Amino acid sequence: MNSSSTNIATSSSARLNKKQKTSGPNFDEIWSFYQQGPNKGNGHYKATHFYCSTSWEHGKPQTMKAHLANYCSKCPENISSYWQQKLVEKSNNSSNFKELFK
Ligand SMILES: [Zn+2]
Repeated sequence: MNSSSTNIATSSSARLNKKQKTSGPNFDEIWSFYQQGPNKGNGHYKATHFYCSTSWEHGKPQTMKAHLANYCSKCPENISSYWQQKLVEKSNNSSNFKELFK
């Protein structure tokens, strides 16, 4: 006898805590290209790439950027070259590294 169907209309519209994070300490531009999953601790989130569905349990921005720049096969060329540039800029201190991209 399970006719206790109490139709509770959960009309509390699923209002996600969707803050438009375009700045702030935790925002990295890289997240525009990845789906951010649950926090896995240590400030790392699960990351899934929109283009190729590559995912990491603990997404590290540096790894994710390198993926876009060098490893993703689905990434449009303008995006990968954009991130190649960014990675080069970041390692401006190392002249050796710069030599590689001449
Ligand atoms: Zn990818």
